[in-house]
Amino acid sequence: MDFSWTEEQTALRERVRELLARELPPDWEGLSRHGPGSPEQTAFSLDFCPKLADAGLLVPHWPVEHGGSGAPPWHHFIIGEELWAAGEPRGAQYMNVNFIGQTVMRFGSLEQKQRYLPPMAAGRAIWCQGFSEPSAGSDLAALRTRAERRGDEYVINGSKIWTSYAGLAQTCFLLARTGGAGRQGICIFLVPMDTPGITVRGIPSLIGEGDIHEVFFDDVVVPADALLGEEGQAWPIIGWALSHERVGIARYAFSRRVLDGMVRQLQSQGRFDDPVVQARAGQALAAIEAARLLVYRVIDQRARGLPPTADANVARTAVIAADHRVSDFGMSFLPDTYCGSDHPLHLSHHERAIAAGIAAGAAEIQLNLVAQDFLKLPREARA
Ligand SMILES: Cc1cc2nc3c(=O)[nH]c(=O)nc-3n(C[C@H](O)[C@H](O)[C@H](O)COP(=O)(O)OP(=O)(O)OC[C@H]3O[C@@H](n4cnc5c(N)ncnc54)[C@H](O)[C@@H]3O)c2cc1C
Repeated sequence: MDFSWTEEQTALRERVRELLARELPPDWEGLSRHGPGSPEQTAFSLDFCPKLADAGLLVPHWPVEHGGSGAPPWHHFIIGEELWAAGEPRGAQYMNVNFIGQTVMRFGSLEQKQRYLPPMAAGRAIWCQGFSEPSAGSDLAALRTRAERRGDEYVINGSKIWTSYAGLAQTCFLLARTGGAGRQGICIFLVPMDTPGITVRGIPSLIGEGDIHEVFFDDVVVPADALLGEEGQAWPIIGWALSHERVGIARYAFSRRVLDGMVRQLQSQGRFDDPVVQARAGQALAAIEAARLLVYRVIDQRARGLPPTADANVARTAVIAADHRVSDFGMSFLPDTYCGSDHPLHLSHHERAIAAGIAAGAAEIQLNLVAQDFLKLPREARA
């Protein structure tokens, strides 16, 4: 297997770095502290993403007809690594280019593609993902929000929780139940957030202003064509979307930047000669590299057009482990600066590492899926 980058890929990485050097303001680290759901970072992303789009660096992996250049998924990942290492200036829009856009492209109607893809490709769309409910997180198939068909419309009632970016989102990628219990009864709706009957309530959290919310749906009327795909056929689409969500965020690149920064700091303080510190830094680096290579395996499968596999769960588990290793390193050797206000990106890393094993599917659930689908272990313990 050849792990080296091509000249074209190296040049692409360089272009992203140049754009970042040009476009990120001097106070970017402080700005990024507000979090991707904050008004500040959302406003910044609505300025920054169109520039990425103009440079052909927002959706190069999309087909030309939808505003991309038909580049392989590797381009999207190289760009993602650079942007995550910089603190993710795309803000909430990373979700559009990681999975919402591709899902609409693959499973949406012509009208849905025409309506929703151009604003995403232009860097002007903020979406939220309405999956989790108070009694349906890991057990997503238990969700209760209902969508009742009435003529040419659906009427939606229920509530969502932990919905990232809902306060500023224009559209929600919403799961609701039209049928009976279980997976078969679930549908996907694309719902404008300004539809009457939607109420958003922020949940204060340590991971940034405006990040997570409760969203209430009270007799929310949407046209029947807000449905993505057919009734009763949403579960495989959700699985496809989640596999892209789980391996879409190059957080290992962010972890690497933070680890490198902490090692430099320890070196400047003369504390990096300690073999214990070196060993722990080495373990954190090894975890980052393992995550990077396991993610690359998934990207390679995507680039070859293969369907999603449990490799995505393995990769996501490794990304979470790398986050936690770096976090433990910071807490062990530089707690004041890792969690202090002098290094806003380090503090963001710390806060997000806490949530990393829960958001986008809890770590334990990933491990269950690895055991079941990757290692083929039996579901029940033998007597
Ligand atoms: C920062 C953040 C952002 C989020 N953003 C969104 C969003 O935008 N949209 C959205 O829909 N949701 C979002 N979520 C919600 C997230 O998807 C859920 O929190 C997650 O799926 C876990 O569900 P839960 O909170 O109901 O916990 P539960 O499912 O109740 O799990 C609680 C604990 O029990 C464990 N557990 C549960 N079932 C099993 C099992 N079968 N085997 C072993 N262990 C198990 C879990 O691993 C976890 O540790 C976000 C969460 C966070 C923290």
